[in-house]
Amino acid sequence: MAGQLVFPFFQPRSSRSSTKGRVRALATLPRIAPAAVRVPELAHEPSLFVFPPGAPQIFVHEGARQTLERRLATAANQPVVLSITDNRHSMIRHARAGGVLRVRLHHMFLGSPPAVQEALVHYLVNGNRQASNLVGQYIDANLTRIKPRRRTAMQLLTRGKCHDLLDIFRSLNETYFDGAVDAVITWGRSSKRHGQSRKSIKLGGYNAVERLISIHPALDRPWVPRYFVSFVVFHEMLHHVVPAPRGGGRANLHPPAFREREATYRFYERALAWERSHISRMLRA
Ligand SMILES: [Zn+2]
Repeated sequence: MAGQLVFPFFQPRSSRSSTKGRVRALATLPRIAPAAVRVPELAHEPSLFVFPPGAPQIFVHEGARQTLERRLATAANQPVVLSITDNRHSMIRHARAGGVLRVRLHHMFLGSPPAVQEALVHYLVNGNRQASNLVGQYIDANLTRIKPRRRTAMQLLTRGKCHDLLDIFRSLNETYFDGAVDAVITWGRSSKRHGQSRKSIKLGGYNAVERLISIHPALDRPWVPRYFVSFVVFHEMLHHVVPAPRGGGRANLHPPAFREREATYRFYERALAWERSHISRMLRA
C-alpha cells in the first residue's frame, strides 16, 4: 500500500472577506522572519548560501528538522522521513508506506513551542483529536508565516478624496495597539454600477494571509464622519490581533474577546448609532 494520505490536511483558514469591489492590492511587507535557517553540512563548501534573486527563500534549520524527525520516529516506533515545506495550503501531510512514516510540515512548526511540537507528534502518531485542535490553533496564530499568494508589487490606495486611511490606521495603531499592528490597508474598489443600489454592503474586510485590510470606498464621502471610518478600520485591525477560535468546524470570527475589545473604541456608541441612521445612505453611495 503506497502513498496513503491521512486526513485532515491542515489548511490555513484565511478570513478572506474583501469588499465587493475586489482589491487588486497585495502584500509587500516581509513576512515574519522564518523560524530557521538551512545550515549546510560542514563537509560542503562554504559558498552554499546562494539565493536566486527574486524568489523568496525558506530556511530550514537542519538540526531542528532532525531533532523533530527523531522525536517522531521514537513516538511512532518506525522510521520517519520529515520534509519541511513552504506550502500555502497544506500545512501538514503524512502518509505511511512501506513501513515508513513520511511527514511534510510547514516550516512554522520547526520554531514552535514545545507544547505545540508535543501535540504535533501526538496528532501525527496517534491521530489525537485534542492534539489536532491545538495544532490547528497554532496554524491560525501563525498565518503571517505562510507566504502570500501573489508577490507582485502592491497598489495600495490609502488617500481617498475625503479620508486618509493611512493616517487613521496609524493613529488607531498608536492609541489601541502600541503600534503593534503590521497589517496593510487600502481602499477597496466599488463594484456598484451606476444607478444601482446595493442590498448589502461590507464596509471592511481583512485577509489574514495577505495581512490586508480593505475599506469600502462608499465610506470615502464627505458626509461620513472620520470617527466612523475609524471604527470600521479598528474592527478590521482587531481581526489582525484577535485570533478566531476554531470550535469544531466554522471559525467564530467575532468571539467575546473580540467584541469586548471592539467596545473599547472611544466613539463606539456614537459609531453604532451613526451606522444605524446612515445605512440606507451608504447602500446608495
Ligand atoms: Zn469582522
